[in-house]
Amino acid sequence: MDRRTLIKLLAAMSVSGCGTLNNTAKGLRVVVAGAGIIGASIAYHLAKSGAKVTIIDKQGPATHATGGSFAWINATWAKQPQHYHALTQSSVANWHGLQQDLNLDIRWQGSLEWYDSDKRTAKLVEQIAEQQAWGERARMVDTNELAELEPEVEFGNAKLAAFSENDGAIDPVVTTKKMLTAARAMGAKIQYPCELVDVSLKSGRLVEVTTSLGTIKADRLVLATGAELDAGKQFADFNIPQRSTPGIIVTTAPMPRLINRIISAPGAHLHQRNDGRIVIGEQAGVPQNEAHAQRLKNRPNRHPDKKIAMQHASRILDSSATFVPRISAATIDDVRIGWRPLPLDGHPVIGPSRARPDVYFAIMHSGVSLAPIVGQLAVHELANATVIKRLDEYRPGREFVRIKRY
Ligand SMILES: Cc1cc2nc3c(=O)[nH]c(=O)nc-3n(C[C@H](O)[C@H](O)[C@H](O)COP(=O)(O)OP(=O)(O)OC[C@H]3O[C@@H](n4cnc5c(N)ncnc54)[C@H](O)[C@@H]3O)c2cc1C
Repeated sequence: MDRRTLIKLLAAMSVSGCGTLNNTAKGLRVVVAGAGIIGASIAYHLAKSGAKVTIIDKQGPATHATGGSFAWINATWAKQPQHYHALTQSSVANWHGLQQDLNLDIRWQGSLEWYDSDKRTAKLVEQIAEQQAWGERARMVDTNELAELEPEVEFGNAKLAAFSENDGAIDPVVTTKKMLTAARAMGAKIQYPCELVDVSLKSGRLVEVTTSLGTIKADRLVLATGAELDAGKQFADFNIPQRSTPGIIVTTAPMPRLINRIISAPGAHLHQRNDGRIVIGEQAGVPQNEAHAQRLKNRPNRHPDKKIAMQHASRILDSSATFVPRISAATIDDVRIGWRPLPLDGHPVIGPSRARPDVYFAIMHSGVSLAPIVGQLAVHELANATVIKRLDEYRPGREFVRIKRY
């Protein structure tokens, strides 16, 4: 068996832990609301299984959380507890299959993470030991190896860093659009700007959805509406409690290669795409002050003017230059504010609404890491009217306990 076939087989097996899933949704009419990476993955897998799919977005593909994502594909120590880690781990494996199918540009170079304090580093050593026990290719590396792995990076006082070798990074906008193009080639309809405004039910079952462009007959509706806080209440008669937080993502113009891997350093994380652009995110989140709070009140995806955007970008670039000095020569290309779709307990919400069983939720943070597995499992449930046990922890009807994860 060649390597390509083996990767596909492993990816398929990791979906359920029990072999390939057979999805036949021939004739099932599904509307997917939201053309971010989650909606796009679900639409792609639905179209592949023969469903009649219409994907709609009130603005356009990858215009919200997906467009403002750091886009690190990972199952690192922060994915807790183990069932959630395992789900993410399967998804990382499934990215390889999707990469082959759609000819995606994914940079699989792993990630390096380190901290300033000895106490936090000692904790990281424990966390990486747990990762190894959970089957991750992760290990601690010393300063000699760090200098070889990343010659342009200054690691300060750090004597050790965690190297998670399975991790990768994508351009989330390009990837989402590729999934949509593939879905369209298999018959899916894509409509935007097109807003979901209502659902019509008969005896509790979905009949059609109303959009800003008219009505669509549908057997199922998927809510992949990200951080849109009211969507659950409005369309599924069930409110998903969210703690949606903002993050600023800065993208530079293309530069000669400075960094090879995803770098998670004290204060900032960054990676450099194959096109040479460096993507930078802040570790601590956006600054806490009144002016900033006012600007964020209406949850914008951009700063109100270029001057303010550039002030933030310069601040983030300066903090990155403390460990990648040559980044200070970068030209800023884009500054975005992304709003994380973040259910209160930090875990995905996947599954049908109890009140409206034909309306299926797919709302989550870490959606870039999770998109392949969520696409496959959600479509299996939608197509075969089955219940996948490994999704039990993520059902909308669970008790949401507030946990601060991101
Ligand atoms: C700053 C930041 C950094 C991140 N970093 C990472 C990372 O490194 N790794 C990772 O795995 N994840 C990361 N994430 C999380 C990840 O980006 C998200 O989980 C993922 O993009 C969610 O995708 P989505 O399709 O669910 O949501 P979105 O991309 O937000 O898409 C939802 C879409 O629904 C549409 N919509 C909403 N309401 C309606 C309606 N009524 N009718 C029609 N359309 C509607 C919106 O227009 C939007 O396009 C990050 C997120 C942020 C903000």
